[in-house]
Amino acid sequence: MPNHANGAMVAIHLAQTLAGQLPAPLLARWQQRRLRRIIAYAQARSPFYAERHRGIDWGNRGIEALPPIDKSEAMAHFDALVTDPRLRLEEIQGWLEEPRNRGRRYLDRYTLMHTSGTTGAPMVVVHDDAGMHWIHNAFVTRQTAPAWRRHLGLLQGLLGRPVRLATLVLTQGAYPATGAVSFRTPAQERFVQRRVISSEQPLADMVKELNEFQPDQVLTYAGVIELLAEEQLAGRLRLGFDHPLRAVVSMSELLTERARRLALEAWGVAVEDTYAAAECLAMGRTCRHGRMHLFSDMCLLEAVDHRNRPLPPGEPGERVLITNLFNRVQPLIRYALPDVTGLAGESCPCGSPFPTLLPIQGRSGEVFHFLAPDGSEARVAPGYLLRECYALECLRDYQIRQTTADQITACFVAGPEGPEHAAEKLRTALEEGLRAAGLQRLPELRVIPVTAIPRHPVSGKRQLMVGMNTLSGNLP
Ligand SMILES: [Zn+2]
Repeated sequence: MPNHANGAMVAIHLAQTLAGQLPAPLLARWQQRRLRRIIAYAQARSPFYAERHRGIDWGNRGIEALPPIDKSEAMAHFDALVTDPRLRLEEIQGWLEEPRNRGRRYLDRYTLMHTSGTTGAPMVVVHDDAGMHWIHNAFVTRQTAPAWRRHLGLLQGLLGRPVRLATLVLTQGAYPATGAVSFRTPAQERFVQRRVISSEQPLADMVKELNEFQPDQVLTYAGVIELLAEEQLAGRLRLGFDHPLRAVVSMSELLTERARRLALEAWGVAVEDTYAAAECLAMGRTCRHGRMHLFSDMCLLEAVDHRNRPLPPGEPGERVLITNLFNRVQPLIRYALPDVTGLAGESCPCGSPFPTLLPIQGRSGEVFHFLAPDGSEARVAPGYLLRECYALECLRDYQIRQTTADQITACFVAGPEGPEHAAEKLRTALEEGLRAAGLQRLPELRVIPVTAIPRHPVSGKRQLMVGMNTLSGNLP
């Protein structure tokens, strides 16, 4: 990688560090400035946005004046949307299918990824090196650790003892997390020594690799955190013996109470959570108070209802519209993500200038819809049910699915107290969650013990909630 790339990396690193030190109003102004720049760039270089935004005076009317887009549109107009005419979807898809291209950059300058297709057809995402630096630095600079420890980390890097970061991810595809952690430059390696460990291999092999590498930080899915913590408690995994394990960071999946509890027991650390999507790979991270902070220098988030009407802070949307502020190759402006969350509109005692988000209640495909006795539609956001289930220690795993317009089926793998005890607890928890969501008449509840919960057929991820219109796994 040429030297000027290192210059860009340092500039981005400084900009990101500075953003975290700004007072909130200044940070908000900087966000607006970056927003104006990315929109102007997209309108000038992307034929799609030039056409789509033609004649709209958004400067006066605000960003709400610009039409939202979604994944199917972004993919249908891929060639016109990107700002480099050499990028052609058909060629890119062919290139991505070639196993020998894993870990390589397209046209020697672009990092390509595609989503797993948990919610429909996969989305192809393109980043230039600057975009990748934004993502990578966000992982490094936006940590919960106190400033002195981060500075100590930099110093140790200069003295030849970089931070050791182990990432356990799916490696059999150009998935976003895999792409993000595989992008590396010599300058970065000086401060962060990374080991990417396949989460598809047998648990014993993961444990062996981790014992050998002895990371300071572990980044992986909540399900893997649970498995690793159990291995540590059983004495087979030995992290934190030479030097303390500083951080365990959860990504991609919903962080469960079980993962939090086991990690605390095994390593004495509070698991940090992240908020990301393939289309904007670093959107937020929890602070030491457990609140999720939005990286507002990297994205603009608008919570909207099902008709894309903006909602005030404090109200979770049916989805969010994301404007990615660092991807100039494939600009995504008011791009719909199916996440049930919103801006909290409150400051946090941690003093971070980054806005706080409402708890991420899951994805739109996980919202259950029922008919109320008066004929109106009653919605149950996944958080109502999950909040109750997270607290249940008697479950090893579970999946809650809306099976008909008036029925919920919950399958579960029971813990040591046995299935009868677990079934009763689960039923009560679901009833409480449904009442808390405001349902006047409860749907039929089927609670079924199973030996294992299937993972998502395409992505291999855990799905705790499945709405009626979602791509499905197999259940009895
Ligand atoms: Zn905070």
